[in-house]
Amino acid sequence: MKEILTGIADLIFPPRCITCEELLEQHGPLPFCPRCMAGIRFIGSPLCPRCGTPFPAAEGEDHLCGECLITERPYAVARSVGRYEETLLTAIHRFKYRGKTGIGDLLSRIMADFAGKTWEMKVFERILPVPLHRRRLRERGFNQAVILARGLSTRFNIPLDFTLLRRDLFTPPQVGLDRKERSANVQGAFTVTHPERIVGRRLLLVDDVYTTGSTLTECARVLIRAKAEAVAVLTMARAVYDHDRPPEPAPTFLE
Ligand SMILES: [Zn+2]
Ligand SMILES: [Zn+2]
Repeated sequence: MKEILTGIADLIFPPRCITCEELLEQHGPLPFCPRCMAGIRFIGSPLCPRCGTPFPAAEGEDHLCGECLITERPYAVARSVGRYEETLLTAIHRFKYRGKTGIGDLLSRIMADFAGKTWEMKVFERILPVPLHRRRLRERGFNQAVILARGLSTRFNIPLDFTLLRRDLFTPPQVGLDRKERSANVQGAFTVTHPERIVGRRLLLVDDVYTTGSTLTECARVLIRAKAEAVAVLTMARAVYDHDRPPEPAPTFLE
């Protein structure tokens, strides 16, 4: 019955690639056309086992990156599914700035597949999305991190807590800022509303993109200060760039 309904739905709404909207000839495992599918670079070893940054070499052992050797990270581990470029960049922009929340649900499914293969998910006791400031939430109408975190929560049956972290400081978009400016920008931006809910707990913090990691690092810092046992970080995408150079600016209509 379900197959018949899918068949009818395909006639009325033929399946299209979620990034370029080209008609899909056949159902693959993911709704991307072959060209967009080829534009996804998933992140695997060799990478830094702490912050998850991939190394340019195609082969080799995982090892701590230069940054993690000299910087203390409040999170235990951070991982991203793929690079923030081409297909994933377009998909995330369409989701976040054009309100295509269906793309968010799909990205969340991909994240859940990745997380299930990467970690023993039952170690996590709470899933927390990175919060938006209420003004930004009003502008956008939804928090993209909540949509991503919700799918993970459902898949692994781990409670989702989206009121525990609050963003009190309205910060200008981070686009175009370098690492130091980004870090200063989010300093003191987050508050733990109910510390008693996280004392001694292992938490999974979720967001769409890890750029310099400033926002996620600041969130993890306040959670650890509030006595969480450990914080792991998962994002859909990761901007991979030379650390001293600001990331590529997003097209201006998006921010
Ligand atoms: Zn496509
Ligand atoms: Zn690292």
